[in-house]
Amino acid sequence: MAVLLSGGAGYIGSHIAAELIEHGYDVVIADDFSNSSPDVIAAIEHISGRPVPCYAIDVKDNLALDKLFSEQHIDSVIHCAGFKAVGESVRLPLKYYRNNIDSAITILEAMQKHGCKRFVFSSSATVYGSENPVPYTESMPAGSCSNPYGRTKYFIEEMLKDAANADNTMSVVLLRYFNPIGAHESALIGERPNGIPNNLMPYITQTAAGIRETLNIFGNDYPTIDGTGVRDYIHVVDLAKGHVAALGYASRHTGTAIFNLGTGKGTSVLELVRAFERATGMAIPYKVTGRRPGDLAAYWADTSKAEAELNWHAEKTIEDMCRDSWRFQKALHG
Ligand code: UDP
Repeated sequence: MAVLLSGGAGYIGSHIAAELIEHGYDVVIADDFSNSSPDVIAAIEHISGRPVPCYAIDVKDNLALDKLFSEQHIDSVIHCAGFKAVGESVRLPLKYYRNNIDSAITILEAMQKHGCKRFVFSSSATVYGSENPVPYTESMPAGSCSNPYGRTKYFIEEMLKDAANADNTMSVVLLRYFNPIGAHESALIGERPNGIPNNLMPYITQTAAGIRETLNIFGNDYPTIDGTGVRDYIHVVDLAKGHVAALGYASRHTGTAIFNLGTGKGTSVLELVRAFERATGMAIPYKVTGRRPGDLAAYWADTSKAEAELNWHAEKTIEDMCRDSWRFQKALHG
């Protein structure tokens, strides 16, 4: 039996693929390469030392997905495929609703048809919205997201809960990611942003590499340790290991379970910049600009539920994350 990994050529999906294979799972990747490259599949194969079946399909394509389920013995799905640019989702909300929601429905229908009962979903801490106190716990109300991207995550969570309610043999695990950074220790896979990065770490690594002149720090007047925004950065390899734990959980339980995947520690923008400089010896020129609309001052995860029920916790440090992000950046551009 195999795990279907949608979006397996993406930043997070590729690390999940490597980790699953290392833990003895058979993996089938489905990716349309709309925001990734087939090279990544070769890199995963290199890391794992074996071929990885890959379908270059859009998971909204129900015929292609049906063919995949007919050809492969899929007993679980990890669904990572989706559009993820927050700003673009504000400009083009229908593009996000059509793609992200339709993908999830199409996969669920194929699973139903082929008797596949385990679904692990790549959700996001953004579903906690702006109303909850930190640290976020899984029992807090969700849904007050500030953009269409976040709402697609929330709507899919709700849809999955309904699907699990309607079929008591189904197991759904919703994984709410905090801020994944870092890269595989091989430096063969990592984050490859398209154009100007939106997220902090790829902007830092590109600044260190001289591709960007100066890092813009979006506000230093937040009520935080040094005025800059605070997030819970987690090494992408730790995050990927959380999916291995979630698959194990899904094989032992039915119904819906929600887990935060974070470290439980907040780090400010300036602290991350300093940690990067320490870990790599590279200087990051920066200037403080205005706040970015929609940003929250500070949030991080309460990770006690994942620790207790998944028997998982993040192990890598901020320095590990900085070093590995930089190693991948150097490997990309020499
Ligand atoms: N940030 C920044 N400059 C950038 C990108 C991000 O100062 O070029 C800040 C942002 O305001 C936030 C933190 O870095 O406080 C993390 O932002 P990111 O976009 O990486 O993640 P998210 O907003 O999803 O938490």
